[in-house]
Amino acid sequence: MTVREAVDKLEEAFRKLIGADTEALKLVANECCWEELFDVLRKRSNASNLMRWICENICEKISLNNGWSLFIRAWREGLVQFKDFSSVVYDVHRLRPERWLEAPAELRKDAIYELFERRPGEPFESIRHAHASGGQVLVPPIGYIPDVSVRRFREMVQASGDTESLALIDELIQERKAACLVAVHHSSSRPLVLTSAERELVARLFSLARQGGFRSAPLPPIHLSYELPPIFLAYPELEEDGQEREEDTPIPRDRQRGRPETMSIEELLGCYQADASQITLWVRGIRWFARRLGKDEEMLRAVVLVHELGHWIMHRLTKAGVEEWPLSLYKLTHEDLHECWAQLQTWYVGRAVGGAFQATFADLNKHQPAAYRVWERFQSVPPVRAFSALEFLRRLPWPARLQDWESRVQ
Ligand SMILES: [Zn+2]
Repeated sequence: MTVREAVDKLEEAFRKLIGADTEALKLVANECCWEELFDVLRKRSNASNLMRWICENICEKISLNNGWSLFIRAWREGLVQFKDFSSVVYDVHRLRPERWLEAPAELRKDAIYELFERRPGEPFESIRHAHASGGQVLVPPIGYIPDVSVRRFREMVQASGDTESLALIDELIQERKAACLVAVHHSSSRPLVLTSAERELVARLFSLARQGGFRSAPLPPIHLSYELPPIFLAYPELEEDGQEREEDTPIPRDRQRGRPETMSIEELLGCYQADASQITLWVRGIRWFARRLGKDEEMLRAVVLVHELGHWIMHRLTKAGVEEWPLSLYKLTHEDLHECWAQLQTWYVGRAVGGAFQATFADLNKHQPAAYRVWERFQSVPPVRAFSALEFLRRLPWPARLQDWESRVQ
């Protein structure tokens, strides 16, 4: 086969949108033929597109290094532009170092930028996927992890002795590391986007309130916080879960501290802040406790969410003639009443939906302190009566106590 015949074959395949003939491709991939190849191609009307296509095919099917070299040459002749040569950029880390150096500085720079664009590494890759699929993204605050192809690419460039390109690669890596540090710092909390399961649970809660004549309302701000929950601050060894702490710190650990006997929802998993009327869910506490219970993390989060929304409902939901609970009195309301209400609401929802939600609530409840188990005495109270008692409590001129509630529901 002559070079001209090979080009004819390739041009036909290009026109018909079929695969390139391997024999023809092998022939034109050979550097000895390139003078002739250019002579033949220059006379064709579609020389530019055909050359791009031939280069791509050589890269993919014959040799990345030869395809790259041919492309460089075609670029120098003004036959192709860098943007035409997209496919090789994915594989540029596999080039031989001496081939990398064949490219003029301008092209090398373009290739570096392009590789970072296409292989953004984590967490950028996950963010991009999440945006593309319109879904929610759970990006752990891990900092920047370059893509493997970027790491290999850096090694290849280093081996080539191309210090200028190496400096640019390092600069781009540093830039991303710094950006992620800032992001990690600011992402110590982020707003919760409700899953469809959580939306159903919210609807169940509202339906209880509506039975009592209360109106549904826009949800308060709900944050997922990556800060340490209060109980981990009080018992730092808890989170280590048996792992030995590095002992070279200058402050000795209190060996008498022991472990807490119970861990309340509010100390470990989440809380409702009445002043700001917002909910915080402690991601680290939820993760840790879910593992300890052997339960699904998302399901435990859903239980905690419903519990905290229970507090919010007690404080803020209104009906005709019944205003929100005045903040100062709400805050002075006794803890056992607060938790009785929130747990009872969660139990109502669990009874209605059953399954893993109900089981997770039951397991969580077993580990709660006394104030969180008071509700168990009120299982027979129908939701309607609970909400009518809430109306009564809200009108009390003193901070409500458990006995005030009890007097209305028994
Ligand atoms: Zn609570």
